[in-house]
Amino acid sequence: MNKKTQVGIVGAGPSGLLLSHLLHLEGIDSVVLEARSRKYVEERVRAGVLEQGTVDLLCETGLGDRLQREGLVHHGIELRFDGRGHRIALSDLTSGRSIWIYGQREVVKDLIDTRLAANGTIHFEVDDVSLTGIDSSSPVLSYHRGSQDHNLDCDFIAGCDGFHGVSRDSIPAGVLRAYHHIYPFGWLGILASVAPSTEELIYAYHDRGFALHSLRSPEISRLYIQVEPDEDINNWPDDRIWEELSVRMATDDGWTLKIGPILEKGITPMRSFVVEPMQSGRLFLAGDAAHIVPATGAKGLNLAVHDVHNLANALIAWYRKGSDELLKQYSTNCLDRVWRVQDFSSFMSLMLHRYSDDDGFKGRLQRAQLGYVCSSEAASRSLAENYVGLPYA
Ligand SMILES: Cc1cc2nc3c(=O)[nH]c(=O)nc-3n(C[C@H](O)[C@H](O)[C@H](O)COP(=O)(O)OP(=O)(O)OC[C@H]3O[C@@H](n4cnc5c(N)ncnc54)[C@H](O)[C@@H]3O)c2cc1C
Repeated sequence: MNKKTQVGIVGAGPSGLLLSHLLHLEGIDSVVLEARSRKYVEERVRAGVLEQGTVDLLCETGLGDRLQREGLVHHGIELRFDGRGHRIALSDLTSGRSIWIYGQREVVKDLIDTRLAANGTIHFEVDDVSLTGIDSSSPVLSYHRGSQDHNLDCDFIAGCDGFHGVSRDSIPAGVLRAYHHIYPFGWLGILASVAPSTEELIYAYHDRGFALHSLRSPEISRLYIQVEPDEDINNWPDDRIWEELSVRMATDDGWTLKIGPILEKGITPMRSFVVEPMQSGRLFLAGDAAHIVPATGAKGLNLAVHDVHNLANALIAWYRKGSDELLKQYSTNCLDRVWRVQDFSSFMSLMLHRYSDDDGFKGRLQRAQLGYVCSSEAASRSLAENYVGLPYA
């Protein structure tokens, strides 16, 4: 079957869904193709920290109701090392900016509900998506759905299908340059049915490795420990995870970690990845399809939002004014922020993780850096302004 839309979008993660929503607000038609089921997409546990700019954009575009009711506003984070906590006062250091705790799956649920209420088209559980004609003025998305093959004629295609998607690989060889860095550690993350033991995120540096206490709601905690990148999750029964978290987060003042049933656990490798440019012909890449940042800076979802904000504005200018200026600048405008965020995420990762090959030198440098960040207002402010997110250009 042959159909037509203005913008064909591959992937119903945060990037694809938000792009579809922003285009709809300006009367531009799109179709979203998603390989997984709606339930799977809505239940996938991932990011949870939203920058101020992300929250502002969601609220300004009608997606803020539940976020403002259920999201938790945080004005600081804690860096913990040598048994003591040091607060970085994010809001005081950034003229009142803050971060919000609101799970990625809640953002995705809000987006899907909003798109479907507006009669938007999202096809879940499609197979064999392929892209052709991206260098022409009428690229085509082909896919299999139900028992039928479909072709979708588009003006533009947005590749929002994450790191493992098909869009990036549809770009002819030689167009993209990829930058890839694998960190020598991974994160074992858990979602636990227990009230958080903290009101603000705790980033803990410890001789046994990094640990992070994050949260999702007053009843649900999200915690991580540094493990080997190729670690087997079967080596980590629940008791061992809680014990390790308790040791790495321990303080001298008797702080205790609340323990509860683990709802989910998994291991994520830490990598940095960027392709340049983020565009080829009429295909534009956004979000994890174009870049991955190590999770220590809590930036992946926020970068994806920044990309689609730019892409939506560029497409709106093309449809409204016939101008391709912003489309031509899309990649450059996004990559400036992508590399700034790569640098910040790398800085946080290198400062907070332990190295298995460290003979003591790296650890000394890390302690010196942690001490400086916590004692110098200039260094705290630099961390804070990056953590809450630099203003959109
Ligand atoms: C454990 C973990 C913790 C994280 N924590 C944070 C955090 O605290 N803060 C933060 O900002 N970021 C965090 N991130 C990163 C964040 O989750 C991602 O950056 C974000 O999901 C990117 O959104 P996206 O829409 O670009 O890609 P994705 O969310 O990956 O969505 C891509 C979609 O495309 C679909 N797809 C893939 N291939 C195809 C295909 N061939 N055809 C059709 N559909 C396809 C996928 O099923 C998926 O639904 C974390 C990530 C992980 C894994």
